[in-house]
Amino acid sequence: ILLNSPEARDTAFHFHGYTNAREHEQNGPMIMDCGKGIRVFDNTGKSYIEAMAGLWSVALGFDEVRLADAAYAQMRKLPFYHSFSHKSHGPVIDLAEKLISLAPAPMSKVFFTNSGSEANDTIIKMVWYRSNAMGKPEKKKIISRLRGYHGVTALSASLTGLPNNHRSFDLPFEGIKHTTCPHFWRNGTDGETEEQFATRCAEDLDTMIQQEGPDTVAAFIAEPIMGAGGVVVPPATYWEKIQAVLSRYDILLIADEVICGFGRTGQMFGSQTYDIQPDIITMSKQITSSYIPFSAFMINDRVYEPVADESNRIGVLGHGFTGGAHPVGAAVALETIKIIEERDLVANAAETGAYMMDKLNTLKGHALVGEVRGKGLLAAVEMVAPQGREAEFGAGTLGGRMNVIMTEKGLISRNMIDALAFCPPLIITPAEVDEMVDILTASLDQLAAEL
Ligand code: PLP
Repeated sequence: ILLNSPEARDTAFHFHGYTNAREHEQNGPMIMDCGKGIRVFDNTGKSYIEAMAGLWSVALGFDEVRLADAAYAQMRKLPFYHSFSHKSHGPVIDLAEKLISLAPAPMSKVFFTNSGSEANDTIIKMVWYRSNAMGKPEKKKIISRLRGYHGVTALSASLTGLPNNHRSFDLPFEGIKHTTCPHFWRNGTDGETEEQFATRCAEDLDTMIQQEGPDTVAAFIAEPIMGAGGVVVPPATYWEKIQAVLSRYDILLIADEVICGFGRTGQMFGSQTYDIQPDIITMSKQITSSYIPFSAFMINDRVYEPVADESNRIGVLGHGFTGGAHPVGAAVALETIKIIEERDLVANAAETGAYMMDKLNTLKGHALVGEVRGKGLLAAVEMVAPQGREAEFGAGTLGGRMNVIMTEKGLISRNMIDALAFCPPLIITPAEVDEMVDILTASLDQLAAEL
């Protein structure tokens, strides 16, 4: 690394999240310079297909000028205002109305935040507030799932069910419990059908609620399809069985649509794809195509009414962020949703997503591929060691090596333990899917030859 190069300065001054700090000091960064369509280019000019849409988020690709124009116009008109003390402005009013009209289940209010973590963190506080309002202060526990991902603030990291987000942070907080991950390929037992496995997951949830005490459990939070936990597609009948358990005990359902929302699964919301009727929906990422940090959640009357009563009793709802309801974020979100609708990108996610799944499914016979799964434009290819050599390769080793090879060949995916994720921008074409899967195939062949 040259002294004073961007690489050296990054290493000297920039502390990266989700990065091994000592490895970074050793190896330096990968510096991105610009983007076009589904591609990004690094500072040497090398091109990469961004098969993760950044972080599951750049729905419209990397050069959508209309989003830049929407941000610029709003910055010139009203660059900032907030929504404390009854204040409001055009972009958040329009966006709140639009989100309610798109909601997959009846919703009555939208609250604005800045990140997925903040949306999830805030909604748990609202759920606690609601329980107090209803005179049920003991009804505060939250159940999420092992391998679920809900963010990294202290509370949302507690909801997250991945060891990495708890270890050495003294998390999770008390009162946050994690139930079975519905990963059929990994957790299903010999001879068990998908439906039987789904029944077992619902029974595990029921047992946990019974053990904790039904009157102490306030809400269950889950992603319609688990993303960062490995693109875990729910087994058949999972969601209907889970929802039956929740209604039996009067437990609120929070759908974390931070990845699935805005077309990813081939419907506007993942809740539609799986017939989920949530009380609360959290959203971020694709809502602005990630051009600007922004998030929100919607609640139904069941949640809103007691919260409104409590704030009236106390005098004010003691929660809100400076940047929540940001006019520039709201303007970009409105334009993003407009483009998704105009270009019918939800249908593209369904159609090109089906095409992508067909292409990925052709890899099923490959010696290093254990399973292919997905829905819409969200998929995972699960790596396995060559038969008989499982003991040689620890968890994550093969996925990690694949990541290096794919990156060299100009394809950015993400390795989650040993599941390689594919979540390209919603604008991807079948020809670009071919290109992506060709690089993936060549990378698998190269790794197989190297082993
Ligand atoms: N929820 C889900 C499902 C996510 O995938 C993520 C981020 O990947 C989050 C919440 C947290 O969002 P953020 O990183 O914006 O805090």
